[in-house]
Amino acid sequence: MKIGVLALHGAVIEHMRTLREIGVEPVAVRLPEDLAGIAGLILPGGESTTMRKLATRWGLRGPIMDLARSGAPILGTCAGMIVVAKEIVGGEEPVFPLLDVTVERNAFGRQLDSFETDLAMPILGDRPVHAIFIRAPIIERVGPGVEVLARLPDRRVVAVRQRNVIALAFHPELAGETRIHRLVATMAAEYAEPHEGTTAAGTEPWSLGESA
Ligand code: GLN
Repeated sequence: MKIGVLALHGAVIEHMRTLREIGVEPVAVRLPEDLAGIAGLILPGGESTTMRKLATRWGLRGPIMDLARSGAPILGTCAGMIVVAKEIVGGEEPVFPLLDVTVERNAFGRQLDSFETDLAMPILGDRPVHAIFIRAPIIERVGPGVEVLARLPDRRVVAVRQRNVIALAFHPELAGETRIHRLVATMAAEYAEPHEGTTAAGTEPWSLGESA
């Protein structure tokens, strides 16, 4: 099974390395044809405006929307979260409007530009996630079909899921955190072989092994 990483710009290498670590073959996606045969896609951190420009230039916007609508899991981290949002504060044009949330870019201002913290994220088990925020966005509004996966201690929302689309304001791939990629791999396996269902939970190389 292969999972793509949008490789136009940003923290691409780190996501590819995390996928390899959990036994999944990563595919660098630069052109629409690179999407063939992948069972999920990761949209990395970087600069969301640059990603919008490059995705438009290389004709990736329609094909990525089609992949997402077909049910393949999509994980957006940091700028990747901004590009999957249906609404961006200030009225910027959405890139892949998949997730019914409103995000605010660079929401922590200059003083708290980047920081690290441990967050409870029950979907991944009891152990908290070490979250690295770098000029991070925040989720300002959560639509009715959207599940909140993690919040900061001040209750602001920093991780969400709407069906097959997961978005995080932080960077798990920079913290040696593999459980989010394992969750995406589990969803991708389900997407790739929806009727098999014969594999015992926990036996795949990417599985969480910490089932709740
Ligand atoms: N500040 C970036 C943006 O607004 C996101 C930063 C990141 O991905 N680390 O696009």
